[in-house]
Amino acid sequence: MTIAIRQIRILDGLGGRLEQGTLVIDGTRIVGAGPDRSIRIPKGAQRIDGRGLTVLPGLIDCHVHFCLGAEADVVAAVEGESSSVTLLKAAELARRTLQAGFTTVRDVGFRDHAVFALKHAITTGLTPGPRIVAAGLAICMPGGHARFIGREADGVAAVRAAVQDQLDAGAEVIKVIASGGVLTPGTSPDDAQMTVEELQAAVEVAAASGRHVAAHAHGATGMKNALRAGVHSIEHATLMDDEAAGMMRRQGVYMVPTLSALATTAACPSGCGIPDSARSKAKNMVKQHEKSFRAAVRRGVPIALGTDAGTPFNYHGDNAQELERMVTLGMTPMDAIMTSTSAAARLLRMSEEIGTIEVGKQADLLFVDGNPLRRIDLLQRPERIAGVMQGGRFVAGPLSRM
Ligand SMILES: [Zn+2]
Repeated sequence: MTIAIRQIRILDGLGGRLEQGTLVIDGTRIVGAGPDRSIRIPKGAQRIDGRGLTVLPGLIDCHVHFCLGAEADVVAAVEGESSSVTLLKAAELARRTLQAGFTTVRDVGFRDHAVFALKHAITTGLTPGPRIVAAGLAICMPGGHARFIGREADGVAAVRAAVQDQLDAGAEVIKVIASGGVLTPGTSPDDAQMTVEELQAAVEVAAASGRHVAAHAHGATGMKNALRAGVHSIEHATLMDDEAAGMMRRQGVYMVPTLSALATTAACPSGCGIPDSARSKAKNMVKQHEKSFRAAVRRGVPIALGTDAGTPFNYHGDNAQELERMVTLGMTPMDAIMTSTSAAARLLRMSEEIGTIEVGKQADLLFVDGNPLRRIDLLQRPERIAGVMQGGRFVAGPLSRM
């Protein structure tokens, strides 16, 4: 089946913009994209009038947790429900994410290996959801942050075994915890966790299977430990210092800011149900996090979008709020879109297939009513999502009913 959309604004995900474009999709792939006059529409193609619409690559969120449902107390929620219930919940959250225009996500920490079953169910068409790159359990030190969705490992040998178990179960990325965190009681975000040797061991074992490592790190020491160990992305990077920023830029390591996570927790009034320890840690760091993000933009640190969706009041399906937060902190709308398309695809090493509108790529596309370069918040308005296409098939929005 061939679909041709005419007179549509095309944002290619690489910074390019075309006001009067034509896009042709055949089967699962993009077969034509360019100015209206230059694109020949094949006979028999279904034609769609794209006037007033903008099309961009399907968005990518590099940091979500499908096992967390944005509950006020996520630790209690996970500990209070069976793993089967978590999996059912995760399927619903994946569906909402896809409907919001996020056609690919990286899940960087799930309570067990069921996330690989979810991925399988989505890939085989059993249930709708984004393409998933999943870590499975996060690797942390004994008593460390994220242990409620992690595997505790003490010493190099234990870390190697834990990483290998994730890989054997189907992990396509390994998540390590290099500092304390906000949501785990008794850990301080500023403290480094896991040793450089342990982090190095994780990178080595992952590399032997061709996999990359994502490191959770708020404090600068934890960030630098992870960077010395050779990880490929720093999640949060909340208290980044100059040295850490310089290392990230030189080593080409991505910052995945997750501004939405700290902001939603910090904005919660007392009595909202978020444990006080988490609320006060977030409140104390939110300004510094914004400063770190601005510094990263200024210094040319590679940035890929991540929301930490699933953390308290940080809802799956609201992922596009992260773009508005980045724009509010000084990033241009075009650059914010690139962090969630081409840059995110590079971090996920999926650039050959997704992340841009180019001939030959998978037709993972988001159609928006209006111009998100003028109003980035359009991306988070369900009534403005005209269509979501995944692998050449409309899966959400009014266009899917044509
Ligand atoms: Zn997270």
